[in-house]
Amino acid sequence: MRWDSQVTTVEQADVLPGLARLNTFIRSVRTPEFAGVTFHEIHAKSALNKVGVNSAVPFTWTINPYRGCSHACVYCFARPSHQYLELDAGTDFDNQVIVKTNIAEALRADLAKPSWQREHVALGTNTDPYQRAEGRYQLMPGIIDALADSGTPMSILTKGTLVRRDLPRLQQAARSVPVDIAMSIAIFDDDLQQSIEPGTPSTAARLATVTAAAEAGFSVAVFMMPVLPYLTDAPEHLDQALGRIKEAGATSVTYTALHLRPGVKEWYARWLNTHRPDLTPRYRRLYGDGSYAPKHYRRELAERIRPLIRAHGLERAVEDPQTGSMGQTAQARANARDDNGEWRRTRVRDSGLAATRQDARANLALERDESATLF
Ligand code: SF4
Repeated sequence: MRWDSQVTTVEQADVLPGLARLNTFIRSVRTPEFAGVTFHEIHAKSALNKVGVNSAVPFTWTINPYRGCSHACVYCFARPSHQYLELDAGTDFDNQVIVKTNIAEALRADLAKPSWQREHVALGTNTDPYQRAEGRYQLMPGIIDALADSGTPMSILTKGTLVRRDLPRLQQAARSVPVDIAMSIAIFDDDLQQSIEPGTPSTAARLATVTAAAEAGFSVAVFMMPVLPYLTDAPEHLDQALGRIKEAGATSVTYTALHLRPGVKEWYARWLNTHRPDLTPRYRRLYGDGSYAPKHYRRELAERIRPLIRAHGLERAVEDPQTGSMGQTAQARANARDDNGEWRRTRVRDSGLAATRQDARANLALERDESATLF
């Protein structure tokens, strides 16, 4: 493999028990350029994941080249998914990254099956495909090529500025299949952003990536997800954020309020209690009984942000009645939301779409959980 020649790489002998049980496990490695992060390389048997039939998400197939994410967002919805390998949803999620080193080859095998219908495939729905590890493993070029060569539409949602590396390749892919790019940018206070998304590129760098993608000819959506109650939901913050998004060249904005499922809630509560204990009582009132902000909060947020989105010209695109085409196919999916910004259980079109984990499950039944007393 391409990194075998790197003398700085150290193979770890003390393999984690959950990983050691995997018959697809290859090795665990550390390297100085990723201090504190361990990569666990596995051999994927297949690359395409089918979303459950009862899922509310507006896509059927996903690809996740990595599990865990060094972007380390405190609020990350995917954290509990790490527990299946006896890794914790906190620092292990940030620092123990599973890498499917052969994913492009596995994907080509999946796509070559006669049963493959070339349905839309979404990347970035669980963990970020352009997290820092991608700079080392370079899995995305092979994935993009495999999808494009097979005639499969794709969408990418990321916080990673590394996507700029692949813009020429994505332009090439877009000549044969629909390609959607969406950037996740939710926090426009630099100190807060560094504190709560410590491993991510800065907001300015992500906005510059929006500009680069727009200049490359893509209709770029920005996902303001999540909006953090009492931290990023003030009208001034929202107005300033939307102004910068528009100025960067994005065509639309989708948003949703913070969702704190069990496993994430504990991690977020720890951050809040450390950095903003003054807000703890207010969060207790919002999330004390469950995972979702209550309806009254989401309604008030919608009343605040929607006029601003409209004023900045960032409303979601609508289907052209003449051609049936979408300026940004992701927007077709986004239009399937109700007045509170949640998914309706309808499919708008067969192709298109990018969404975050927060969105994906936003209309599942409200959960009551044991961590309700954390705030
Ligand atoms: S929210 Fe996205 S970018 Fe942040 S840690 Fe989770 S997967 Fe990574």
